[in-house]
Amino acid sequence: MTPIKTVAALIDEGLTAPGTRATLENVVARYAMSITPDMAALVDRDDPGDPIARQFVPSEAELAAAPEDRPDPIGDAAHSPVPGIVHRHKDRALFMPILTCPIFCRFCFRRESVGKGESALSPEALAVAFAYIEAHPEIWEVILTGGDPFVLSARRVGEIARRLSAIPHVRIIRWHTRVPVVDPSRITDEFVASLIVPDATTIVALHANHPREFLPAARVAIARLIDAGIPLVSQSVLLKGINADVDTLEALMRTLVENCIKPYYLHHPDLAPGTAHFRLSIKEGQELVRSLRARVSGLCMPTYVLDIPGGFAKVPLNEGDVEKTGDGWRIRDQQGNWHDYP
Ligand code: SF4
Repeated sequence: MTPIKTVAALIDEGLTAPGTRATLENVVARYAMSITPDMAALVDRDDPGDPIARQFVPSEAELAAAPEDRPDPIGDAAHSPVPGIVHRHKDRALFMPILTCPIFCRFCFRRESVGKGESALSPEALAVAFAYIEAHPEIWEVILTGGDPFVLSARRVGEIARRLSAIPHVRIIRWHTRVPVVDPSRITDEFVASLIVPDATTIVALHANHPREFLPAARVAIARLIDAGIPLVSQSVLLKGINADVDTLEALMRTLVENCIKPYYLHHPDLAPGTAHFRLSIKEGQELVRSLRARVSGLCMPTYVLDIPGGFAKVPLNEGDVEKTGDGWRIRDQQGNWHDYP
């Protein structure tokens, strides 16, 4: 089976009804769609609220604009000195060599840029990005993201890792990816070997949102990374209709830990366009996290975070840094400044 990339293929695979065709053509004209065979096979066709389908199968709700939607919800553009680099924090920089993914999440926070047009940095732009990192000795950690950098070949991943590790001040190379769960056959021994470099530590941050994503092939791919000595941490997004209940969150966090992955971040959903149907309130999120804490050890607890819109960075949604206002919220950033949040 090949990835599902058209509405006709969605209908053929029984992932949507034929009557949705015209509407979903409008959705996929606006936001990229691709569903890997592993995830398509996982969808329960008899469950209209299936949490796997909800993550990847387009829906009419994506055409609804909410007043709080933002095309660049976490403010990447405000901190991008050169193409492919976002330098928001002094000691670390995001490096985006490619803006595509093997599967497109319907709640993607970069959906206005990921999966559209030219996806990979040109050799010239790559050179400029490496030069920027070289010229900034304060950058201790480089976070490869995108898009999903694990769609690159082992050869290209190896080249990037070696060039970064040759920069003396880059000590940590962190790869953000969804591939080990959504397209695990890419994680070959050759691919894993390409991640290991002599002069920097490799870390993988795995994006996973539901315990059912951990199919046997995904567990094998994850074990291959762990067996190579690569520490794994997780990132999950708290999403209405997918994992915003304490039983699912508990099962997800336990599954991560059982697979040697330390739960790291639980993201409050961003204000990406056409994703309002996935959002819950901060209060609901805080209550869920409190319930989770009552059930599991600290080992299974991620930090519940919000990226403050406008590029003011990620902050934990701790009680003292979040205040209810008349029609929304106020969030305190790392500098102690307060920002309104709808
Ligand atoms: S894997 Fe990340 S970048 Fe890719 S579609 Fe999902 S949220 Fe967006």
